[in-house]
Amino acid sequence: MKNLKITTFSACGLFLLLVSLDTLIGIALWWYFVLIITWFLIMAMGSFSMSWNFYLKAFTSKKNIKEKKIAITFDDGPNSKFTLEILKILKRYNAKATFFCIGKNIEKHPEILKVISENGHAIGNHSFSHDVMIDFNSTENWMNEIKQTDNSIQRIIAKKTTLFRPPFGVTTPKLAKALKVTEHDVIGWNIRSYDTIIKNPKHIVKNITKQIQPGSIILLHDKQINVLLVLEHLLQFLQKQDYQSVTINELLNEK
Ligand SMILES: [Zn+2]
Repeated sequence: MKNLKITTFSACGLFLLLVSLDTLIGIALWWYFVLIITWFLIMAMGSFSMSWNFYLKAFTSKKNIKEKKIAITFDDGPNSKFTLEILKILKRYNAKATFFCIGKNIEKHPEILKVISENGHAIGNHSFSHDVMIDFNSTENWMNEIKQTDNSIQRIIAKKTTLFRPPFGVTTPKLAKALKVTEHDVIGWNIRSYDTIIKNPKHIVKNITKQIQPGSIILLHDKQINVLLVLEHLLQFLQKQDYQSVTINELLNEK
């Protein structure tokens, strides 16, 4: 939010400077276009990069952490093909993870949500619809999306989630307003696996492991066909390197 204020303040200042220069010596019209386009590009980039903390404060990794702890996160479930298999693998390695679930998928598979919770993993809100046009929502529609999913989670596991991950990792001023009311902790990531784009599981694992350091948050999806292989190899790597995979809540509270 601080960066948004600095950008808007600077853009207003530069605009006034251009107007003054125009009055004094006369300047070409395209100077105004350059200013408007630059401002627009910065605003758009702020939407797509959660680590900029542009519209809201997001937690994308735990900085300066002493212990070798990281958090694995799975988006877009619960999924009837893969989520339960993922839970089995996590159990074998004694690893904990965080699942950012979509409300409409929770309604389809409430029993899977229960098992995730019973296995000691954390559950976060990832909107109700995850619609492709969701980022054009009004504040009121965002509130509905968030509350509906919160209610589903609470009804099924009798626990309230305090975590929210924006669909597509995109943040907007309207979403920021809604989250100010709902008071969720916004969770991003600092290691994107590109598991929805890269086909070869080995390449996905390599892409993750070369970036791992204490406090990392890894983004995976429990709807991808290669997720089981990727997870197995990732957990083997973590075990060899003495890393512990914990829930987002544990990582947040780490000193
Ligand atoms: Zn998603």
